[in-house]
Order: sequence, then C-alpha cells, then structure tokens
Amino acid sequence: MKRSSLIKPVLGGVYPMISHGKGIFLYDQTGKDYLDASSGAVTANIGHGVQKINEAMLKQASEVSYVYRSQFTSEAAEQLADKIASLTKGDLQYSFFVNSGSEATETALKIAIQYWQEQNKPQKQKIISRWMSYHGITLGALSMSGHPIRRERFSTLLESYPTISPPYYYRCPYNVDDYTYGQMCANELETAIRRIGADQIAAFIAEPIIGAAGAAIVPPDGYWERLKQICVEHDILFIADEVMTGFGRTGKILASKHWGVEPDIVTFGKGMSGGYTPIAATVMTDKVMEPIMKGSKLIIGGHTLSANPLSCAVSLAVLNYIEKHNLADRAAETGAYLIKQLQARQERFSFIGDVRGKGLLIGIEFVQNQQTKEPLPKRIDATNEIIKLGMQHGIIVYPAAAGLDGVTGAAIIIAPPLTISLGECDELLSRLDQVFYAFRAKLAR
Ligand code: PLP
Repeated sequence: MKRSSLIKPVLGGVYPMISHGKGIFLYDQTGKDYLDASSGAVTANIGHGVQKINEAMLKQASEVSYVYRSQFTSEAAEQLADKIASLTKGDLQYSFFVNSGSEATETALKIAIQYWQEQNKPQKQKIISRWMSYHGITLGALSMSGHPIRRERFSTLLESYPTISPPYYYRCPYNVDDYTYGQMCANELETAIRRIGADQIAAFIAEPIIGAAGAAIVPPDGYWERLKQICVEHDILFIADEVMTGFGRTGKILASKHWGVEPDIVTFGKGMSGGYTPIAATVMTDKVMEPIMKGSKLIIGGHTLSANPLSCAVSLAVLNYIEKHNLADRAAETGAYLIKQLQARQERFSFIGDVRGKGLLIGIEFVQNQQTKEPLPKRIDATNEIIKLGMQHGIIVYPAAAGLDGVTGAAIIIAPPLTISLGECDELLSRLDQVFYAFRAKLAR
C-alpha cells in the first residue's frame, strides 16, 4: 500500500476513506455507512450533501470567490453580517469574520483588551475563564481554556489567566441543590475579581453549555444571569463562546438566550457554515463598538481569508436553511426525545453515569458505579473504546473530557445534524445500543 503523505491526527491510526455524505449519513469507499451522530466536530448542523448549499457555493464561485477585506467589501459578507444581526435578535449588531472558532475567540480576547485601551484603561488585560472550558487551539484561545490535555505540552507559552469553577452539578462536592451550587460557582467570579482587581480584568469568557471540555454541562437556572450581573457590577465585558452552541444546536439560535442573557461579545464557528466551508465570527454590541469607532476605528485582527465572499455566501445559505426549516425548534424537540431515551438506558447499562444536555447537544458520562459516580479505570480508556466500537458499528460519536480534574472522567457527546428525524433518532439509538452491548461485553472480560 502507498505510504500516505497526509498527516493524520493519530499517526498510524486507521481512518476510513469517505466517498460522500447525504443527510445524517457518511459513506466510505467500501460502501459502509456511518450515522453521523456527532455532526463531525459538532459542525455539520444541516447534514451532508444539501443541494441548496452546493448551488449557493457554485453561484458565488462563478461570480467571485475571494477579495481582500482591507480592499473590498462584498454583497455576501454584508448580507451575512445583516443575517447574524437579525437572527440574534438583540444588541449583537457587528460581525468580524475569521476562519475558525479559535480565531474567533482569540479575536474576542483582543477586542476586549482594545475596548478598554480605547478608553484609556490599558491595564485591563486579563481574561477570566473556567477551569473546565475549551475556547480553541491557538495560543491566545488556549490561554483562556481550561482543557488540561490540550494545554499541558504548551504550558510555558500560555498566559496563566485566572479560572473559576464550572457549574458541574453532577460532581458537586457539596450537599446543596443545583440552584445553590450554580450561585456558588457564579459567585467565584466576584471573588476572583475582588482578588485580582477589576481594573486588571478585560472580560470573562464562558461557553453557555460546556462542550468538549465537559460533555454538555448545562448550568442551573440563575447561574448565567448571576454571572452577567457580576460582570456589569464590576465593569468587565461578558464574552459568550457559542462556537459549538450557536445557531440552533441547543434548541435556540443562541444558547445564552435560554437564560435571557445578552453577552457583550459572542463568538460563532462550526455550525455557522455547517462545515461546508471554513468561517467563524466575532460579533459585538454597540457598547463594544462605540469606543473603537470613536477611537482608532480599526480592529487589530483578521486574516488573509477573513470575510471571503465564497465562505460568506455559503454561511448565509446555511443560516437561511436553519431559519427556513426551523431547525432550532426541531433540535429542541428531537433533543428532548433523545435525552429521555438515553436516560432510560441507564437501567440497562450500569456504566452510564449521567445523560445531560439541551437540544441536540447531549453528553453521556461513563462511570464504574452509578451510585458513587466513581470513574471507570483509566486502563479501560472508555471514551476511545466507545468511539472505536462506534466506528465498527457505523455510528460516529464525539469525545469529551469529564471528571473533577477534567481528565479522569470518560464521556462522549451525541450531537447529530439538527435535521435528524424521529425515525433516524431511533436508528441512532439502535446503533448506540449495539456499541453499548459490545462495551459491556468488554468490561465483563
Ligand atoms: N470554542 C468552542 C466552544 C469549541 O468547541 C471549539 C472547538 O471545538 C473552539 C472554540 C475552537 O474552534 P476551532 O476548532 O474551529 O478552532
């Protein structure tokens, strides 16, 4: 066999060669089908092979694919920015386009710092985040992330930004109800601000629902509201990282809308183009834009391919598709069905410790013992084992970190395209059952 010149995530790993995709399925060159229960990296939100998107792509490509954003604007970029402003229905009015979620959160960091510089507060540079979080792989984004596995190799290059506890109620160490625990976690932000000094802090960043770093941790009601209140009281910006949760994934266009909270800056990526093309966005309110407009009038950021018309046209077509087909509402419905069915499986499979999530962002945490919540032994490597079994049984699931240290737990994310039908949900469950039976057999050996 010819040696491959392409570097794969795991060198020497086995990667099926995909030939095409349709709806929630991918097909490899041998004709085997895979039910995409993770939408790739929680990205293929409208499913694969949607003709409307291919048409929009071709139309834009036949007009113009690329112009440099410092020289020209384009209909596609203008319309996409307007679409985002109208879909988010609030103060988020200004989009800055980049090419990946990491670039979007790193741009948010830079804009937050610039916002204060424009107001003669250059010492406001620190960003507070949570020790269970993922905001991206570039050094600035990773500095804000509490993802031990991804950080450890580069720790000397990263800023040591302060972090607070995630609202991980499943592993709450205190004997309190979820609301109280949520308030305790949120109040840690106030403690951190008082310790460091609000005059040093530019912003607080959080995912409304923690994705890869915690397997769909949904905060208790009141938590998100309290965080916003603390940010306002101490005059620091509130950044919502909606790269994974944005545009319908959790049953609303923005996950932060579940709690009625308006962030100052929001980042989008992944589902924003459904994976049809690389594009991401950092979106700001008037409040954030005003001092920049009055001051330097220039955002120090952006990339060669930022706002390229081809990606913008594709993203616009994807967002139109999400809106037209009411995919956020649909995700709320099918997600509730899947969560209920998965929770019912806890009786059958004693290693399912927790099923959590909102809409079609669903986490399953695996344990040795449902009562004590003791994690499975490390040697079992449960997350990777389940992913491998999934590949064998024709279902793709996504790995996630879990456990009180974000390392010792095992978890997966189930996040199929928002277009999935109830019948397809049953097919998903049936394939997952096969994986779980096989995993149970392995555990028994
Ligand atoms: N933010 C969140 C919440 C994410 O889940 C991710 C990716 O998983 C990122 C940022 C980084 O996005 P990208 O991989 O597109 O750089």
